[in-house]
Amino acid sequence: MSGDDSGARILPGATIGILGGGQLGRMTALAAANLGYRCHIFCQSADEPAAQIAARTTLAAFDDNAALDAFAADIDVATLEFENVPITTLERIAEHVPVHPSPSVQAVAQNRLREKTFANELGIATAPFRAVTSAAELADAITEIGTPSVLKTVRFGYDGKGQVGIDANTDPEAAWADSGAGPATDGGILEGFVDFDLEISVIVARTASGETAAFVPVENRHRNHILDETIVPASIPDATADKARDIATRLCEGLGVVGLLAVEMFVTAEGDVLVNEVAPRPHNSGHWSIDAGRTSQYEQLVRAICGLPLGDPTRRCDAVMKNLIGDDVETWRDEIKDPQARLHLYGKTETRPGRKMGHVTRLGAVFGG
Ligand code: AMP
Repeated sequence: MSGDDSGARILPGATIGILGGGQLGRMTALAAANLGYRCHIFCQSADEPAAQIAARTTLAAFDDNAALDAFAADIDVATLEFENVPITTLERIAEHVPVHPSPSVQAVAQNRLREKTFANELGIATAPFRAVTSAAELADAITEIGTPSVLKTVRFGYDGKGQVGIDANTDPEAAWADSGAGPATDGGILEGFVDFDLEISVIVARTASGETAAFVPVENRHRNHILDETIVPASIPDATADKARDIATRLCEGLGVVGLLAVEMFVTAEGDVLVNEVAPRPHNSGHWSIDAGRTSQYEQLVRAICGLPLGDPTRRCDAVMKNLIGDDVETWRDEIKDPQARLHLYGKTETRPGRKMGHVTRLGAVFGG
């Protein structure tokens, strides 16, 4: 497509590079295709969910500079669907084309100490926390923060991996060893345990010109530390929902995100909202928006990184999204018969316990006509 008013926009017909080949990349590539874009996936195996449906793929390691340069030469803009893409990989691509969200945003989001510090500097509450780099420092931090508390690795933790609960009887030496924290994870972080009522998330999109659009706060319920269900909307008072949207938008603007920022938060019985973590990419808790939103988070990401106007973030109807984890995927035979259920399977050939194989979004009452 061509036009005089294109400015710095990346127009339909252009190629979006996506680092990572998982389901988040697959759903981004499907949304991009709907708007006439092509996607080039950089991942490690041709069988990965995004690689299966993309226009082009590069199969290489994230530190393969020749492959990164060839990838960058083929695309107009890059984004990522996987949290732990090395910053050096992103910086290499950014020498050739825009990378959204930028490597500096990723550097904050990949590090639990930096993300919590950043939030606190904006006046946004988190659990109390301390950096710890040894069992002795952990013992001191437990004295300061108190129990119960949670020890996490600073980097590379997800779905509860690298987390150890601390109570009054915990031996700091054993907890430090159990957490796996060390130089390879940039150490550990001890957080005060938050006695929350519910966990919510808000996903905000932002363009380079500063336009933002926040999705409704949703409630996330976990099973075995993995997201099980997302309930849309979260049943919280309007004032709490406004506070959560405001927090997520301020973080998105403060970080200078171009693309999406997902913000996970705890809500306490008193109505306090504390940030747990941020992810500058599409988020599992936003899958509902494909079927129940007026614009999906994936389309919103494409619009944001390409400089198009953002879509309407409101919902068509309430919804419940359920992840199909491991053997849950076998229920697809029933789900596909349910007219209120929208089934998404990710094309993964091997079912493993804890592996996200697909999801179902159940559509609820029509909202707003
Ligand atoms: P995370 O990897 O930080 O998202 O933590 C995974 C899950 O552990 C969260 O979704 C919470 O259910 C729980 N969790 C993490 N940090 C805390 C905390 N400081 N207080 C209470 N629960 C927590």
